[in-house]
Amino acid sequence: MERIGVFICWCGSNIAGTVNVNELVDLLLEVPGVAHAQNYMYMCSDPGQELIRNAIREKELNRVVVASCSPRMHEKTFRKAAHSVGLNPFLVEIANIREQCSWVHQGDKAAATQKAMNIILATIGKVRKNAALESIRVPLTRRALVVGAGVAGMTAAIELGEAGYETFLVERETEVGGKLRHLSKTFPFHESASEILKAKADALAKNENVRLMTNCELKDVTGYVGNFDVTLRSNYDGSETKERIGAIVLANGYDLYPVKAMGEYGAGEVEDVVDSLTFERLLKESMEAGAPVKRPSDGRAIQSAVFIQCSGSRDPAHHKPYCSRVCCLYTSKQSKLLCQQNS
Ligand code: SF4
Repeated sequence: MERIGVFICWCGSNIAGTVNVNELVDLLLEVPGVAHAQNYMYMCSDPGQELIRNAIREKELNRVVVASCSPRMHEKTFRKAAHSVGLNPFLVEIANIREQCSWVHQGDKAAATQKAMNIILATIGKVRKNAALESIRVPLTRRALVVGAGVAGMTAAIELGEAGYETFLVERETEVGGKLRHLSKTFPFHESASEILKAKADALAKNENVRLMTNCELKDVTGYVGNFDVTLRSNYDGSETKERIGAIVLANGYDLYPVKAMGEYGAGEVEDVVDSLTFERLLKESMEAGAPVKRPSDGRAIQSAVFIQCSGSRDPAHHKPYCSRVCCLYTSKQSKLLCQQNS
């Protein structure tokens, strides 16, 4: 018979300041299979762990959920505490109600409490199906795969190679560099994107541990962390290579918000309303030619420009508002470069 114990951590006011922890205990005691529920100020402290150990012993708990911070912080702590009183550590699960709930819903206690309850109920559902596992040691494959040879992928592959790991860098296009190839200068120091790219490409070429495969795609992945079997397919001739890999870095880039699809600001209708990457291309062309930046509609030098930031990111009609964290920076860079080129 299931006897689940649920322990809700206040984390001081980190959780208890936003989530009604007493209400959660009352609700959880009504959930079938929950034999014990309580909250405490600091569950990871020695008294907090002792409280869990005692409840396991006294209430004969055979499953435990700790509603607290990310499992990255204290999953091991709580599994070890449970194991010390005879409970298999894999029958302990963490419900993250701090990073994934209280920290992001401050100011809305009712909604945060409801969400915390949902997270805990989902974790109870998970722990019900957990099996009592045993840890084993398996050998790791000390080779890495990086998917995407833009600036992030190139940097990852160079550093993995320098650390001594044999690394496959796979790029579906024929050239490396990704979107960096289309940039004029980078912010905030106005460094030449072409020079950054050249330095990365040189470092890659010199790195004997990195094998660059362009025009190549990751077709299939099987296996598990530490020992993946990957299939790489060449777009040149369709041939396939199978490799055993220990770790995979996905650096597959990004796409722009489809500004034309928004139908606002004349995008998609007015030729001179362009997105930021198109403007980068115009800037780059003008710098390479030593000429003013030209507008697309008639090729005449731009006399004045309006930069619209946050398009589609702080507009509730299209998305839940969020900050891209880059558009202020590149807009100030682009406006400055435009003034330099066209003054
Ligand atoms: Fe804070 Fe996590 Fe410790 Fe609770 S277990 S007090 S959430 S750090």
